[in-house]
Amino acid sequence: MKNAPINLLNHDRAGLETLFLDMGEQKFRAQQAMKWIYGEQNLDFDAWSNFSKVLRARLKDDYQVAVPTLLSEQVSKDGTIKWLLKVDEVNAVETVFIPEKNRGTLCVSSQVGCTLNCTFCATGAQGFNRHLTTAEIIAQVWVAAKQLGHHGLDRKITNVVMMGMGEPLANYSQVLPALNIMRDDFGFGLANRRVTVSTAGLVPYIDRLNADADVSLAISLHAPHDELRNQLVPLNKKYNIKTLLASCKNFIQNKRKARITIEYTLIDGMNDRPEHARALCKLLANIPSKINLIPFNPFPGTAFKQSQPEAIEAFKGVCMKNGFITTVRKTRGDDIAAACGQLAGEFMDRTRRSAQIKKMQLEVVA
Ligand code: SAH
Repeated sequence: MKNAPINLLNHDRAGLETLFLDMGEQKFRAQQAMKWIYGEQNLDFDAWSNFSKVLRARLKDDYQVAVPTLLSEQVSKDGTIKWLLKVDEVNAVETVFIPEKNRGTLCVSSQVGCTLNCTFCATGAQGFNRHLTTAEIIAQVWVAAKQLGHHGLDRKITNVVMMGMGEPLANYSQVLPALNIMRDDFGFGLANRRVTVSTAGLVPYIDRLNADADVSLAISLHAPHDELRNQLVPLNKKYNIKTLLASCKNFIQNKRKARITIEYTLIDGMNDRPEHARALCKLLANIPSKINLIPFNPFPGTAFKQSQPEAIEAFKGVCMKNGFITTVRKTRGDDIAAACGQLAGEFMDRTRRSAQIKKMQLEVVA
């Protein structure tokens, strides 16, 4: 029986080089293939004119460039766009584009669902089905680029943040090649600091990322002490705040990064009091960091509420007074459930954590 075709999107440049060398071809074919796939967005092997006819025929026999089907595109009144991509018969993931004045940020998913079960996150509440492959991760950028007309000098996507569905570091082996393609000149050519991995704190993989990829790091902290963080981010019971921040410190030193980002979701009455802010500043005193406050975004079924605007301002004030660059993340795309923590996609929850298995009733975008 013939093997299933190999999807070229699953390989970064180093992977493609091995693949072409194994075919008896030269290494530079990898760059050429990437130029067609990511630069020209041309997935038709027949059009790859700098490949010989024989090579094209071999590619057609054993390889493919398979991109997930686009199921829907929703545009928010603030210009945010959310795409739903079908990755297999029962699973679809969401990708969000957030246009701002001087940049365009793409928020990419790494898993179908998530196992971490952070109590304030819609993705966690839905349960987990599976990891995404490298192809399914990088295809989100590919599809967004195509839909946006991101091409040549007209580059709409300037930043990628791994802040969609899932915990990127829990799917490290598939995420790493995707991060490489995002930053490769023959891929999407993004500067290292414009690709951000956001994590709830999987310490061993922060350490691996430290060695493997020069990207920006964002830590979802959400609480200044373990007792509270255990409640919000159950992963904290495994890797507590002290262990996590030690690993962050290493990351900053090793990468000679100016700073990391600390994400802190502000939930009414939970973690938003001035004493929390003061404790946070004390905790971060020796960690070069900027603080990104995220007003909690509600989702169906949650008991949590967004902090009052005065509480958000007061929290920010304390952080600023202590010398931290502090931003409040603007809620974007909440009318299309595209805001932070609202992404749920459509999928079968293998963990059965969600009460009910959602049925996919989706229209394929023509
Ligand atoms: N698993 C990764 C990336 C996922 S989400 C991580 O934990 O970092 C990106 C950010 O949105 C995280 O900081 C996450 O904690 C936050 N978030 C999750 N649910 C939220 C909600 N309902 N409102 C606001 N922010 C939320």
